Amino acid sequence: MLLLPPCLFFMFEDDLSSVVVSELDLRERVTSLGAEISEAYASIPELTVLCVTNGAVVFAADLIRSIHLSLRLDCISVTNYHCDEAGFTPQELAGSLRLDIQGRHVLLIDDVVDTGRTLRGIVSALEGLKPRSLKTCVLLSKEGRREVGEDADFIGFTIPDLFVVGYGLDFAERYRNLSCVGVLRPDLQNPPAWQ
Ligand code: 5GP
Ligand code: MG
Repeated sequence: MLLLPPCLFFMFEDDLSSVVVSELDLRERVTSLGAEISEAYASIPELTVLCVTNGAVVFAADLIRSIHLSLRLDCISVTNYHCDEAGFTPQELAGSLRLDIQGRHVLLIDDVVDTGRTLRGIVSALEGLKPRSLKTCVLLSKEGRREVGEDADFIGFTIPDLFVVGYGLDFAERYRNLSCVGVLRPDLQNPPAWQ
């Protein structure tokens, strides 16, 4: 019997030219990341998790179930694809939050850090809302691409400089539902049917 990697059972797998992180590796790393985070915050009464939508939704949904602490969850919607450090004001971010984060221990979850501009912009704005502590967690970090800011405090995988889709990451809003992370075939980028 032909044994296929788990990702091949999903409908769009043929659309990838390569798998960068398999479904199994994602599952294992998300569990161990959850354990690292649980340990790092073991002494606090409660954690506030902020998920950057839409890209981090799938990652955050899995990760919070591996964090064995009392936590509250909220989402931040960021419209700019790339933004500089003045890209968001604390008021704009507060407007997209339901929870008050002042005095709280906050963990920000995003999908991927590339140049670092998006994460830096969100972190700067969140700092203006006076959390007690603020740490960052990303599923993917692209090697050698950082222009601003520090690396995230918690990183799932360091990957090469490739544009990837799946496990929440999109290409023109598609492919978020892939169970692995991979590179989209060049001939499928922006086909006429998407216009
Ligand atoms: P940065 O501001 O760090 O350059 O870019 C980070 C943002 O760009 C991410 O939050 C994500 O929305 C988008 N991005 C960067 N690299 C990729 C990628 O490989 N795939 C997808 N789908 N989005 C990416
Ligand atoms: Mg993003």
